Amino acid sequence: MLLNFDFSLARKYHSAAQQIRVMSENWVLQNIYCVKCGYRQLAPFANNTPVGDFYCPSCKKNFELKTHKTDIKSKITDGAFSSMIDKIEKHTVPNFFYLHYAPADYRVQNFIVIPGYYFTRRIIEKRQPLAPTARRAGWVGCNINLRAIPESGKLYLIRKQQIADKSQILSSFNQMFFLHRHKEENKGWLLDIMKCIEKLNKRIFSLQDLYRFEPVLQEKHPCNRNIRPKIRQQLQILRDANYLAFIEKGLYQIL
Ligand SMILES: [Zn+2]
Repeated sequence: MLLNFDFSLARKYHSAAQQIRVMSENWVLQNIYCVKCGYRQLAPFANNTPVGDFYCPSCKKNFELKTHKTDIKSKITDGAFSSMIDKIEKHTVPNFFYLHYAPADYRVQNFIVIPGYYFTRRIIEKRQPLAPTARRAGWVGCNINLRAIPESGKLYLIRKQQIADKSQILSSFNQMFFLHRHKEENKGWLLDIMKCIEKLNKRIFSLQDLYRFEPVLQEKHPCNRNIRPKIRQQLQILRDANYLAFIEKGLYQIL
């Protein structure tokens, strides 16, 4: 894997945005493999295809590229709000690539994959409609709120120019792939519990540790009157998915 963009590709273009688009797309095609099946190279979609920028010729998963000269923040700006909600409902959200490059030397600093199966309506924020004077007046875009996604949903293929082991990335992506089978409400609960477990910052934790989040979870799910059984139910699902193991009664270990 090479970290530098091929600058010779930029010569044909005048606009800086177009240069970055061409170089970063080319870089992905040269260097990035499919994080689901490991296939060595992705293929490009035709320009402006609504489903994404790349797909895997082997397993057909889709990918969308976001290229920025800044590190990943708590929010990513994305396209139309309505089409994102539609994709979430139809379970067709692409996997997101966040490419952070240094503008001084066009070198990739971080490359993060956010699997599409982590997306729920709750992480999508509606932006203000564009002003009446704008070319696309009234158009409504969205932001992806990354704070609501657990850390396990940010796979660093490259972190501070260090390249992660491919087998590790494939195993992380596939370990949580079971989330795509869960409906919105269920998935929201699972992600909430995973975020709580992360906040504990312990490899081994108890049920009592998690019960301390009861008021926070109650606030997020005001209609639910059985928060504790719900917590235990999510722990069982996470155990069946090999995310954690039950050590003894009321004691759990993250795998
Ligand atoms: Zn694949």
